[in-house]
Amino acid sequence: MAPPIPTVESNGVDLSNKKAAVTNRGVQCNPVLLENKTSIRGVIGELLKTTNGEKPLISLGIGDASSFPCFQKGKERFAAAVADAVSSSSFDCYAPSYGFPSARRAVAEYLSRDIERGIREGDVFLTVGGTQAIHVCMTVLASPGANVLLPQPGFSPYVAACELYGIEARFYHLQPHHGWELDLAQVSSLVDANTVGIVIINPNNPCGAVFSSEHLHQIAKTARELNIPIIADELYGHMVYGESKFVPLASFAHLTPVITIGALSKRWMVPGWRLGWMAICDPHETFTQVKVAIEMLLNVTSGPASVIQAAVPSILSDSHEEFHKNVLTILESSAETLHTRIDQIEALQCYSKPQGSMFTMVEVNATLLVGIENDMDFARKLMKEESVLVLPGFVIGLKNWVRIFFGVSPDLLSEACDRIESFCKRRHPSNSTC
Ligand SMILES: *Cc1c(COP(=O)(O)O)cnc(C)c1O
Repeated sequence: MAPPIPTVESNGVDLSNKKAAVTNRGVQCNPVLLENKTSIRGVIGELLKTTNGEKPLISLGIGDASSFPCFQKGKERFAAAVADAVSSSSFDCYAPSYGFPSARRAVAEYLSRDIERGIREGDVFLTVGGTQAIHVCMTVLASPGANVLLPQPGFSPYVAACELYGIEARFYHLQPHHGWELDLAQVSSLVDANTVGIVIINPNNPCGAVFSSEHLHQIAKTARELNIPIIADELYGHMVYGESKFVPLASFAHLTPVITIGALSKRWMVPGWRLGWMAICDPHETFTQVKVAIEMLLNVTSGPASVIQAAVPSILSDSHEEFHKNVLTILESSAETLHTRIDQIEALQCYSKPQGSMFTMVEVNATLLVGIENDMDFARKLMKEESVLVLPGFVIGLKNWVRIFFGVSPDLLSEACDRIESFCKRRHPSNSTC
């Protein structure tokens, strides 16, 4: 073994022996992070290694619509608002822990437009995207022995956050044959004295469902009976089309406290700007401790960039109708295209047409696909042969289904449908050569 190199710190202490001891011990870290968990990004990363080099990649795997020219109409005004904030130099400073008052007020006003009992500026907290809001919620609710109810299929960062903070995740099912609605009797059966909340994602990722006002009311009534608050993930708020109407869960906050999570990432298509929020709607003020805990946590972490916060009032104003309308027109037509095309493929089933968000769940009937065993196998071979990326459902709690993202340009979506169709045809038992 080489002799330790003598190191002398500026204060003159010789650390050579100490350093050698540290190197031999190996550095310890949080064991939860060493378990090899499946994550959306992890599985996507693995699939991306297997593309067919002859066909350009079409990614329907991850929900990022920001780069497609078809969605840019009117979007330049969001960038202009940020540019103004940057060039003013007034936002080079740190922002307050919970966000600039003007930005918090803008979010409060935006959320209050649709609900009877408004949300106050002081009940809004700005976060680094929706993801930090998820982490703040879970950190704050993680009392010893706590469990939380999550949708299945769902959004895997919730599961990861539960594991990280020692909360037990209990899964309620979304029912494919009932418009992906909750089975409230099953929800009730999962609850005990340690249940600290239920997460509702509406409009829904991954299913594309938009819950009716009646169903949301039933959910809130059930939560009240069970005495649990609702964490309303409304990342896709207002991203609905056709007959559907978006009703914020905070409309039912008189029944049980609601924490609404949102972000600029999806509706405004700027996920890289990392601006999200959480808003507490709690007219009976039973959530005071939770609010104190959120404030404590945000005082010791750090929030979104000041220059992005400065642009929030302008971005959330109601003067971007052209942008939103164009996005919804394209998404509605893409939802229609995808549903119609999938419907014609025998091995794939899409039980309901997406009504909102930018995703749908498709069931894979492996018995009609020679050489395909399950959802991961389907995704892997579809990538290898057709360079079309979809998310295998096991990652989000539904084996032998795949999640398809359709927030891409319409011509790309048609091309992806062509490739998926020829892939399934090739593997059909009646004409397979595989
Ligand atoms: C994208 C997404 C988030 C996270 O939002 P970011 O702003 O990207 O961190 C949270 N919930 C759902 C359902 C999402 O689809």
